[in-house]
Amino acid sequence: MTHDTDHTDNTDRNLQLFQRAQKIIPGGVNSPVRAFRAVGGTPRFVARAQGAYFWDANGKKYIDYIGSWGPMILGHGHPTVQEAVRKAALDGFSFGAPTEREIELAEEILRHVPSMDMVRLVSSGTEAGMSAIRLARGATGRNKLIKFEGCYHGHADALLVKAGSGLATFGNPTSAGVPPEVVQHTLVLEYNNIEQLEQAFALHGKDLACLIIEPIAGNMNFVRATVPFMQRCRELCTQHGALFIFDEVMTGFRVALGGAQSIYASSIPGFAPDMTVMGKVIGGGMPLAAFGGKRAIMEHLAPLGPVYQAGTLSGNPVATACGLATLRAISQPGFFEALSARTRLLMHGLKNAANQAGIPFCVDSEGGMFGFFLLDTLPQNYAQVMRTDAQRFNTLFHGLLDRGVYVAPALYEAGFVSAAHTDDDIAATIEAATDVFQKL
Ligand SMILES: *Cc1c(COP(=O)(O)O)cnc(C)c1O
Repeated sequence: MTHDTDHTDNTDRNLQLFQRAQKIIPGGVNSPVRAFRAVGGTPRFVARAQGAYFWDANGKKYIDYIGSWGPMILGHGHPTVQEAVRKAALDGFSFGAPTEREIELAEEILRHVPSMDMVRLVSSGTEAGMSAIRLARGATGRNKLIKFEGCYHGHADALLVKAGSGLATFGNPTSAGVPPEVVQHTLVLEYNNIEQLEQAFALHGKDLACLIIEPIAGNMNFVRATVPFMQRCRELCTQHGALFIFDEVMTGFRVALGGAQSIYASSIPGFAPDMTVMGKVIGGGMPLAAFGGKRAIMEHLAPLGPVYQAGTLSGNPVATACGLATLRAISQPGFFEALSARTRLLMHGLKNAANQAGIPFCVDSEGGMFGFFLLDTLPQNYAQVMRTDAQRFNTLFHGLLDRGVYVAPALYEAGFVSAAHTDDDIAATIEAATDVFQKL
């Protein structure tokens, strides 16, 4: 395999920038997956982006299926959003005092997500997830929590954990620098495994503060929680007095206007989580995230209650302008129908192209979020996702990249279509993939 790290010429600006960055930024990046470690090669340094495309430091154009890992649902540089950001920036970058726009954004979020009565704005998904768990612990007076293998809820200490040796034992840290004591309250279970879930509640139910889940897990590519599994999570949480937290940082305002919870609510009567964590789309590309839920829970938060949480830049006026303009644009009638159809068109085309080349391939999508797998059947959990032939994925990734199609540089990440992607972009992507599949 020849990747462009093999280039020895000094005309590759991406490579020059990567070498320069590595001297002063660990790994040359400010978030690890950007470093291309999983697939090899040189990360593309983005010079600018517009609509469905970005241009790298060499001036090469790519069709972008990452969109900043989800936020850019309208595409890059949407004129209405740009104008809102420009106006907000002229009025000031940050005040550390409340603004009217924070109320408007909170109202806009709550309007679409009826399970939340109140919401607090923060600056990152990590912060939102960490704060939601603290609040769940404070509100219930319990310490233990359940998370699922393959779900990511940010890099807070208590969440960087893998399964222990059995259900009676709690997790082990997955990162150096996390003391074992910090994860001793975190129980890691297999996604979509009802039997394990029931056993865990039977053993630990009375000590559980919360269960946190990615309803459609986008941090193990794209794996849906089955409806019976989701229903059982809800029942068990209710029965044992644990709070049910939906991490919709990725799925919120991305798979549907009401998030993944609106999809589960359509097949499980009366379904709602107790708390929801959001990020990505609600900031439209600016650092903004949120957590919210029922009033009785949210009232435990400072300054109303004893659970402390704060942020100098929380509810930032430029970020809220960006998020609000984005949410208003995507709540126009027909927006998600069109986005879903476009995404399905891409998935269908990729699957056909792979199957014609005799490559095992399966796909799933919801709204503007998708996953494809070099597998015969859709995986149900992390272990099944990891059965993917990594070498083959890397060849596919680099083949697409060479042909100007940018998908996630790791087989365990989801992809995203924006409203700016046209039928021509989809067709060009399928054509590139058809070419690459012949060579896999
Ligand atoms: C991206 C993501 C996070 C973390 O958000 P950051 O803004 O990167 O801290 C948390 N949960 C899920 C489901 C995510 O996709």
